[in-house]
Formats: sequence, structure tokens, C-alpha cells
Amino acid sequence: MLRPIDATHLTTGKDGTRIYTVRPDVWKNHILTLHKKQNIGEWYMKPTFKWLHEHTKIGYFPKGLAIETAKEIYVVKGSETDYTLLAHEYGHILGHGHTPDGIMDLMNPIDPLRVSDSRNIGDKFEYNFSDYYDNVLVRAERNRAIPAALAVGMILFGMMG
Ligand SMILES: [Zn+2]
Repeated sequence: MLRPIDATHLTTGKDGTRIYTVRPDVWKNHILTLHKKQNIGEWYMKPTFKWLHEHTKIGYFPKGLAIETAKEIYVVKGSETDYTLLAHEYGHILGHGHTPDGIMDLMNPIDPLRVSDSRNIGDKFEYNFSDYYDNVLVRAERNRAIPAALAVGMILFGMMG
């Protein structure tokens, strides 16, 4: 997997995993380039989800990526306080793949469905990045109630999965 250009180092975990942020314009180009090169037919690249994203702001567009072999996590600038996103990407570093559509788990590719964590990846993330977690993430506010409800509605209406 290609690295984004112009990444800013944010923190390094106890196991050597590094987290970087990437400017939004650089990020967008990077994701589009990856998709062109690797020809990934992901659900969020399809027209329905592009429309949905533009009208509801529910993320179809990836906000983070993990390069497992290099132990590097990249997130778009503005998402560096998104605990769930960072823990999800760290899950990839630990070797976990995505759960199937509709399964409510941290390793779901769809952000609002990351509402449970049976493998305690979040705990491992908090331990590994304890300084960053204590100093930055604990203070960052999160509110997922509405996006989660919308996502469940979308599944019921057959728009996902
Ligand atoms: Zn993922």
C-alpha cells in the first residue's frame, strides 16, 4: 500500500505503531489514486453512497488507513480525535480484517456500525497509545447516537449489505 505524501506524525505507540495525519486535499487524492491503481470495488465508491454522503454526511469515504507491515496508521486531518476510527485502524495493525456488512463490531468497514468490540481491540489501543489516549482522546467528545440510528435504518431499507 502506498503512503500518503505530506503526512504529519502525531504519536508513536509502545509497540512502535505510528499515527499520522494527512491534509484533506492530499487525503482525498490519495484515496482516489489507491482506488484507481488497485481497482477496489468497495461499496462506498458506488453512486448511491456518494449521493448519501453528500446529503447526510454519513461517511462513505474512508477517513483512515493502516499499513500493517509498516505499522503505520494514517487518518485525514480532523479525524485525529476519532477514537473509534483510530482503534479500528489499530485493529488492522493487529491483523484483524473487516467484519461482514451488518455485524455491529469495531472492525466493520462502516463507521456508525462500530458499536461493539468483542475482541477488546479498544483496550489494546488504549494501552498501546496510553499517553495520546489520556491527553487527547479522553477529552474529545463523541456522539454517535444519530448516525448509528440512521445506519440501522439504511440496513432495514436494504441500502447496505
Ligand atoms: Zn478498515
